[in-house]
Amino acid sequence: MIVFSQVNKFYGDFQVLKDINLTINKGEVVVVIGPSGSGKSTLLRCINHLESISNGTLTVNEVSVSDKKTDINKLRKEIGMVFQHFHLYPHKTVLQNITLAPMKVLGQSDEEAKKIAMKYLEKVGIAEKANALPSQLSGGQQQRVAIARGLAMNPEIMLFDEPTSALDPEMIGEVLDVMKALAHEGMTMVVVTHEMGFAREVADRIVFMDQGQILEEAIPAEFYAEPKEERAKLFLSRIL
Ligand code: ADP
Ligand code: MG
Repeated sequence: MIVFSQVNKFYGDFQVLKDINLTINKGEVVVVIGPSGSGKSTLLRCINHLESISNGTLTVNEVSVSDKKTDINKLRKEIGMVFQHFHLYPHKTVLQNITLAPMKVLGQSDEEAKKIAMKYLEKVGIAEKANALPSQLSGGQQQRVAIARGLAMNPEIMLFDEPTSALDPEMIGEVLDVMKALAHEGMTMVVVTHEMGFAREVADRIVFMDQGQILEEAIPAEFYAEPKEERAKLFLSRIL
């Protein structure tokens, strides 16, 4: 579904992604880990073309992301993204945050969009907050709204960039539970996270990045028991 082939990316002279080869199949959950600055966010952001690649090929559903003829809006409809800092519209209610894109981009009626939004708010367990403003919610609740907002576009792929890193510890579980449920339903997911419990339970593969390179790809049981790469060992010893 997502194929990186010899992808490189530069910011000026600085090479942020180096020879990335990575294939993510439909229904797979891939967890990306690695030190700060290793290129994890950039890797994710290239998938929905928030960043462009410098060379190589990157395809989503066999469509090249960097091809000038590619309809980027269509591509983005297929891909939901959840960020570390939620990115909700502060002056819109929870419900409005979720219905905005489906009405604008998918052309749903107000009524239809609300119905779908409520379905996803129920799914993430906060239907009762539909008319609240984001500032009236806890961080964990805001992140669950952000996930519901992504799902309301009915995407084929969900990208998560450190979705629990900004949360107080007691709120991490409620967000991971929503993500686990999504994974068990067969959603294709690429998740940057250092939450090992989550990775062990639902990841099909761990991708370890360092300095712009993928140094190791392994199933979680193998990776966490004994990573092959020295830098991965060192990294794990620091975060665990
Ligand atoms: P990670 O998510 O693993 O922490 P990032 O993908 O955010 O890593 O960043 C990788 C590297 O690219 C970092 O050294 C960062 O400073 C650099 N970088 C990220 N965005 C930009 C940008 N817009 N311009 C220049 N350098 C950037
Ligand atoms: Mg990052």
